[in-house]
Amino acid sequence: MNIETLLNYLLQLPVGYVWLIFLLENVLITCVVLLIGRFYYKGPYTPKEWTICIITNIINTIVTYAGFWLWKHGIVKITMGVSWNLLLDFLLLFLAMDLLMYVFHIAIHKTFLYKAVHRLHHEAVDPKPIDLFVLHPVEAFGFGSLWLLLLVVYPFNVYAIVIYLMINVIFGLAGHLGIEPIPEKILRLPLIKYLGTSTFHHNHHQDITHNFGFYTSIWDRLFKTYK
Ligand SMILES: [Zn+2]
Ligand SMILES: [Zn+2]
Repeated sequence: MNIETLLNYLLQLPVGYVWLIFLLENVLITCVVLLIGRFYYKGPYTPKEWTICIITNIINTIVTYAGFWLWKHGIVKITMGVSWNLLLDFLLLFLAMDLLMYVFHIAIHKTFLYKAVHRLHHEAVDPKPIDLFVLHPVEAFGFGSLWLLLLVVYPFNVYAIVIYLMINVIFGLAGHLGIEPIPEKILRLPLIKYLGTSTFHHNHHQDITHNFGFYTSIWDRLFKTYK
């Protein structure tokens, strides 16, 4: 079954089932992140972390359903089919989201929103895998809204979207691993050195005045917030 068939199948399902599928999808992603994270972080998670993680999963499910609803009603348009253009679409998504999240991230650090919202995520000075989901609800909705906004303004290829979403999870996990799994030699390679590595986001948790990017360090380098 390809993605096009799957989307058309979802259109025919009762709404309740669609919600359930999206909830299961988000929970499955969280389980995979925490299971892989187990190789790197063996310590326990607190009841507070689990509670926030569950709330973030519910919000991510609402964002997923909102995206589906916007597509169903023609507000979000996506292109189907596999061609080389999907790589361009992926690159555009990757860099545009990176820039939008950089701006959003700086905004929540430099305003009253830091204390009210983002400080929760920064309770972790040495981040652990679950911290990827330890987000204030306003923040989780904020990131979700940026994502949906981008989908509304440009018709991305559906496979580019799926690849981007997978890469997004990989970067999110990497940033909260607590260690750097990639050897120093590889990190210094051209192009690779501009990616947002585990060390890059870990350093943001250690020093909240630098490294606001997520997937790349290019915006931090450009706007002099790189460390
Ligand atoms: Zn973080
Ligand atoms: Zn931050």
